[in-house]
Amino acid sequence: MNFDAGRKALDLDEPSSAASGAAVTARIVAEARGGYVIEAAEQEYPAGLSGRFRHQAAGKSERPVVGDEVEVELSGTTAVIHACRPRRTVLARRAAGGGEIPQVIAANIDRVFVTMGLDGDFNLRRLERFLVGARRGGAEAVVLLNKSDLVAPAELERRRQAAAAVTAGVPVYVVTTRTETGLDPVRALLLPEQLVCFIGSSGVGKSSIINGLLGDDVIRHQAVRENDQRGRHTTTCRQMYRLPSGTLVIDTPGMREFGLWAQTGAVDDLFPEIRTLADECFFRDCSHQHEPRCAVRRALEDGVLSAERYASFMKLHRESRVIAAKVDLTDKLMLKKQEKALHRQYRRYPHRRF
Ligand SMILES: [Zn+2]
Repeated sequence: MNFDAGRKALDLDEPSSAASGAAVTARIVAEARGGYVIEAAEQEYPAGLSGRFRHQAAGKSERPVVGDEVEVELSGTTAVIHACRPRRTVLARRAAGGGEIPQVIAANIDRVFVTMGLDGDFNLRRLERFLVGARRGGAEAVVLLNKSDLVAPAELERRRQAAAAVTAGVPVYVVTTRTETGLDPVRALLLPEQLVCFIGSSGVGKSSIINGLLGDDVIRHQAVRENDQRGRHTTTCRQMYRLPSGTLVIDTPGMREFGLWAQTGAVDDLFPEIRTLADECFFRDCSHQHEPRCAVRRALEDGVLSAERYASFMKLHRESRVIAAKVDLTDKLMLKKQEKALHRQYRRYPHRRF
């Protein structure tokens, strides 16, 4: 009897010791309420956070997101996520409701396509906001102006030029998915193994653009298939797709608001003409509001600098100043926690190369 009990205990221990050997680096390809899907060695597994990692990554911004590289333990058909590797780039916004934490939308993105409609959605101030947010995290940005078939040619050209004037050199592409016009130059930007992401307000046609690039309606297929499998509506928040070119695409839901999570430097980068003017201000820490001999205000009064552009700069600057200290602190904490978690992994799997 006693012997049997001993054998039972041994059997219970075995699966975990076998699983310990199957530690691998994986990528998060989908994130749904309460869980993840990871891809390791071209296989997909449903995955959850280990208890310890869940506890350590207490803040939402430290939890893995789509695009993250994670250390996982495979056990049969599922996986447990133990640690998140440091991120090369992040796409983050201020959490909805004016929270003081960033909401990380995706990680390790190479290029962000900031998408805007040329119709009623067209808004240069919103474009500036998205661009500051997109570039702040280290990814390259591209602007896509969609629905070119909905505006008259003269107005289309006026809007294209107006957009190009506020992007600080970020390339602007005009496309329409309805007639599949302008998509070829965009396709040329989609390099194999690069991770790209489309952001923009809801209704700008991000999914149609992705479908256009995919060459068929894969996104719709995916949603339908998920419905079939689970017998309920899909709860997937963010999901990664592989284009025929080998590029990985993350589809994000439309964003009604894009709260800035950026330092002032990221704002300055998008307003190079104001940065140049600011060099001529009498005071080095000029706020460009009330100070005497302010070159920015002078340019504004002379009509050299547009009132809209100035107002947008001041607004984004104000927002970024409020959170600047927190951005710094959060980034440092995130990095520290990620490094700590990795070190624990090194100790746990000393013979494995991470
Ligand atoms: Zn000034």
